[in-house]
Amino acid sequence: MKIILLGAPGSGKGTVAKRIENRIDIPIISTGVILRDAIDNQSELGMKVKSIMSKGELVPDHLIMEIIKERVIRVDCKNGYIMDGFPRTIQQAYSLETLNAELNAKIDYVFYFVISFSEIIQRLSGRRVCKKCGFNYNLSFNPPKKENTCDICQGKLIQREDDKEITVKKRLQVYNEQTMPLKKYYEQKNILIPVEAHSSENAFNSIMEIIKKGK
Ligand code: AMP
Repeated sequence: MKIILLGAPGSGKGTVAKRIENRIDIPIISTGVILRDAIDNQSELGMKVKSIMSKGELVPDHLIMEIIKERVIRVDCKNGYIMDGFPRTIQQAYSLETLNAELNAKIDYVFYFVISFSEIIQRLSGRRVCKKCGFNYNLSFNPPKKENTCDICQGKLIQREDDKEITVKKRLQVYNEQTMPLKKYYEQKNILIPVEAHSSENAFNSIMEIIKKGK
C-alpha cells in the first residue's frame, strides 16, 4: 500500500505516520528526516541544503527526486510506503507519477490533514523533538515527564532550527504557495481524502478505518 500524507508543517503527519508504520508495517519515507540526517552527517547533500532549510525554503526538486528514486526501490518498500513531506510541489507530484509509471506502481491514498494555521503556529512553537529516537513532544499538549528528556529513550529534546517563529511563518507561506496546489491536483485524481487533524489520535483512527474498509 502506498500512502501520501499531505498537510502543513506541524499538522501531525510525522506522528500519525509513525503510528501507521507500527500498525501495518510499511516504512515511512520522510524527506525532512532524510535531509536533517544529511545535515547532521555533514554529507555533500547536507552541505547543499543546510542554509535553504534554515530559511524555511524548499530544497530544489531535482535533489528531492534523487532521494526518492533511490529510496522507493529499496527492499523494505516492497509492500509500499508512507510518504511524509513529499511531494511538496506540483513538479514533485509529476515526477512521482512518472517514476511510478516506470515502476508499475501507483499511489493508493492521499490523506489531507485539515487543521487551522493558528493551531499549527501554536503546535510548532511548542514542538520539541528527541535527538535520539525522533519522537515528538509538545510543551503545552504533550510535555515530557522530565524536562528536556525523552520519556522513551532518555534522549535529549531539542527545538528544530526551523521551528523558530520567523522560520515557521516562512514555511507556512511556502506551504500555501507551493504545496497547497497539490490538494486540487489529487482531488482531481480522486484519491484525496481529507482527515480532521485537530487531534492526531482522531486522524490516525480515521485513516486506519478507511484503509481497513479498502476501496
Ligand atoms: P519537514 O520535516 O517535512 O517539515 O521538512 C523540513 C524542511 O525540509 C522543509 O522546510 C524543506 O526545507 C525541506 N524539505 C522536506 N521535504 C521536502 C520536499 N519534498 N521538497 C522540498 N523541500 C523539502
